[in-house]
Amino acid sequence: MKVVITGGGGFLGSHLCEALLRRGDTVWCLDNFCTGEPHNVAHLRANPRFRLVHGDVTTAFDIPGPVHAVAHLASPASPPDYHRLPLETLSVGSRGTENALRLALRHGARFVLASTSEVYGDPETHPQPEDYWGNVNPVGPRSVYDEAKRYAEALSMAYRRSLGVDVGVIRIFNTYGPRMRPYDGRVVSTFIRQALAGGPLSVYGNGSQTRSFCYVDDLVRGITAMIDHRDLSGPVNLGNPAEHTILELAELVLRITGSRSRIENLPLPVDDPTRRRPVITRAREQLGWEPHVPVEEGLRHTAAWFTARFRPQPEPEPHPLRDPHPARPHPVEA
Ligand code: NAD
Ligand code: UDP
Repeated sequence: MKVVITGGGGFLGSHLCEALLRRGDTVWCLDNFCTGEPHNVAHLRANPRFRLVHGDVTTAFDIPGPVHAVAHLASPASPPDYHRLPLETLSVGSRGTENALRLALRHGARFVLASTSEVYGDPETHPQPEDYWGNVNPVGPRSVYDEAKRYAEALSMAYRRSLGVDVGVIRIFNTYGPRMRPYDGRVVSTFIRQALAGGPLSVYGNGSQTRSFCYVDDLVRGITAMIDHRDLSGPVNLGNPAEHTILELAELVLRITGSRSRIENLPLPVDDPTRRRPVITRAREQLGWEPHVPVEEGLRHTAAWFTARFRPQPEPEPHPLRDPHPARPHPVEA
């Protein structure tokens, strides 16, 4: 099978490239490296079944056929990244998704959209099943990501209904593992980096907000199952239902790394979701998928990977998503 992976030079994309090459597929990786890194896939370049295309998915592109599947992962994903690249994030979710869909349409390929648990926003339903429609602030600083993904889902489903593209949507919950950028601002990479450097762990708010953390190998098995499951439209949640408060995560990272760092409480970012846990009944029943790696084991692998490679640099300013220009209601509406 020949698979095109947009965003294949990123954290998840590079693991997906590896997994597909390992089972004998041909992989074309398309990336502009706005948040990914060429060294994530450097070790794959000697493989004759691997091609790296340095390009922007928001510009119309073609890949010589045949193409059997398109996995559309291109998008900034960490809050500081999409805060830094707001227009690019909206553009890759809209124009980029349409270009990737057109590629699938031209080649009669399976199309898998990497959507996100962020489509549920700050959920009023807990845990989150796929038929929950979400609670997203459409004008807040996170909206550039959340709404781009919601639009990408709508566009993908329209291509399925109107043009017959074999679309499948996965909603990925927080995933971690080797190849996260130490300074990407996501909570797992940040806490491990801070613990290894001996600096304080930046817990936003009082740390009572929850997330459910999935190890990358589990997640990649789920994406692969969705690529292979022709005609399954989803959406399907992919994530680990084991839910932890952020304070618990900080304490776990301290224990695993043996760090004597202290915990420092910083302001909670705007619109930070208070809790998040996937219902994965659909993934279990329709994909035969569930995660296997307990969070403690996954964090140990991740911390070991960071220990071997991470060289501390001066700590950046903490980057909670603050809204520099909050949208104010019109005076008449206020
Ligand atoms: P990442 O930032 O490491 O990877 C994204 C990749 O997309 C990067 O290599 C980046 O350079 C590339 N990219 C961005 N815009 C592009 C463009 N216009 N053209 C070409 N390439 C472009 O992030 P990730 O964690 O690997 O996320 C991959 C996908 O999975 C994203 O779509 C993200 O929204 C989704 N996702 C990830 C998580 C998670 O926890 N990691 C959770 C939910 C959804
Ligand atoms: N978080 C934190 N300290 C950090 C980075 C993040 O306490 O240095 C919190 C953040 O406020 C959120 C959770 O950890 O409640 C997960 O944040 P992340 O950016 O990893 O993912 P997302 O918010 O997109 O789920």
